[in-house]
Amino acid sequence: MSAPHLVQDQLDQLRRRVDGAVTAPGDPEYDEARTVWNAMIDRRPSAVVRAADVDDVVSTIAAARDHGLDLAIRAGGHNVAGNGTVDDGIVLDLGDLNGVTVDPDNATVRVEGGATLADVDAATQPYGLAVPLGVVSATGVGGLTLGGGVGWLTRPYGLTADNLLSAEVVTADGERLTAGPDEHADLFWGLRGGGGNFGVVTAFTFRAHRHGPEVFSGNLVYGQDRWPEAWAALERWTRDLPDEMTMITTTLTPPPAMEMGSDPLLVVGFAWASPDRAAGEAVVGRLREAAPPDVEQVGDNRWVEWQSVLDGLVPKGVRAYWRNASFDRLDDEVIDVLTRRGREQTWVGTAFDVHHLGGAFGRVPEDTTAFPNRSARFWINVYGFWDDAAADDDRVAFVRGLSGDMDEFATGGQYLNFQGREAAGHRAVDPRTVFGPATYERLVEVKRRYDPRNLFHVNHNIPPG
Ligand SMILES: Cc1cc2nc3c(=O)[nH]c(=O)nc-3n(C[C@H](O)[C@H](O)[C@H](O)COP(=O)(O)OP(=O)(O)OC[C@H]3O[C@@H](n4cnc5c(N)ncnc54)[C@H](O)[C@@H]3O)c2cc1C
Repeated sequence: MSAPHLVQDQLDQLRRRVDGAVTAPGDPEYDEARTVWNAMIDRRPSAVVRAADVDDVVSTIAAARDHGLDLAIRAGGHNVAGNGTVDDGIVLDLGDLNGVTVDPDNATVRVEGGATLADVDAATQPYGLAVPLGVVSATGVGGLTLGGGVGWLTRPYGLTADNLLSAEVVTADGERLTAGPDEHADLFWGLRGGGGNFGVVTAFTFRAHRHGPEVFSGNLVYGQDRWPEAWAALERWTRDLPDEMTMITTTLTPPPAMEMGSDPLLVVGFAWASPDRAAGEAVVGRLREAAPPDVEQVGDNRWVEWQSVLDGLVPKGVRAYWRNASFDRLDDEVIDVLTRRGREQTWVGTAFDVHHLGGAFGRVPEDTTAFPNRSARFWINVYGFWDDAAADDDRVAFVRGLSGDMDEFATGGQYLNFQGREAAGHRAVDPRTVFGPATYERLVEVKRRYDPRNLFHVNHNIPPG
């Protein structure tokens, strides 16, 4: 028996009901329409609906619900686990709902549900404003925000989700509502970390912050002989950093375009979120003094350029697998693992990042949003990007290997937006564990209220029970 899918008259009816393009198997645009960022996710939906407006969102939800089909919601298509597509069911692609409206007087920004990070930065920077987002500009605001959203402004201003003021949502039964602190507050809580479980967000309204257009930022780069010294210095440096300083390290084999040789490097990236440049210089100076870098690229970078500097390394269509964990120690044992594993892998594209957390992110009380585990000092994000399917096993094994080595130091938190899809036979990340019992129970209650039949299940799912 074949899986539930749209039959021809249902497809014809859907095409009549929506204004946006509906692409189905056999159409010349089908392969383009079904493709997501991660080439390891190769799914064949019965239809991809490119919504032209909110009415199309309502109609597409109704079609999936009425025909008993799986429904995947796609914004930027960057979900590492591939939740922006589905076999046989319907993909609701929000990519054309990408308008961004800035209210400079109130420093707020309304962002439609399919916009990318690049759309937001392009609209806000002319006003000297920025919303805290992620570090690759083609990522969708939708998946990023609903899962949390970390980037270069996490320590001064918190997660993207922490800056959400309200969300316009279409629920499983087609109701349009606004969730905020004073209306549907339970849903508003769940949307900030609980993923796409509760409805389709057609627009987000964010608080923005004075930032840019030029930002003191850069990279201190260490060759492998210097890594233990650099990590030890980072352990001390991150103990008393002001909130304005966000640091993300990357251990990688540089691609030829970086013109930095072919040996693995530790790149300590930072961004300083204050117009007081001298204070930023002094903070960076402390690290430079404790562990002088072999090379550095430090200066005033245009924010929109800094926000897209990594884009070329991770184009749509690469194969990808990621794992993430929180940890608090950066002592000799952890440094040994990071150093050994960093030296061992010499593939361009396979790498790991260590995010330093705390700051405004760490001060949000755990029950204010659904985002769990605020107390972690660091996250490690281990990832592989590669082109050749024949390399799948090696790259995935490296990511699993390093992530396994970190298990004994892990403090339990995992960032769902940084989790790849597990192959059959491997334990998938379990939202029940990630959120912890109290938050998970509360999420289940919100799910029961807004999506009792679990229409929105193509995600890190919280079943209504
Ligand atoms: C190259 C790359 C760089 C990244 N960098 C960062 C980073 O710096 N910081 C960070 O925090 N994360 C980062 N991520 C992870 C990213 O946040 C997640 O993969 C996220 O799911 C991507 O969102 P998307 O909208 O592009 O994904 P999609 O695949 O389009 O959507 C993912 C899921 O989100 C939900 N969803 C999306 N939009 C909506 C909506 N409007 N309404 C309801 N549900 C919705 C759905 O459940 C959907 O299945 C990165 C990912 C990649 C691939």
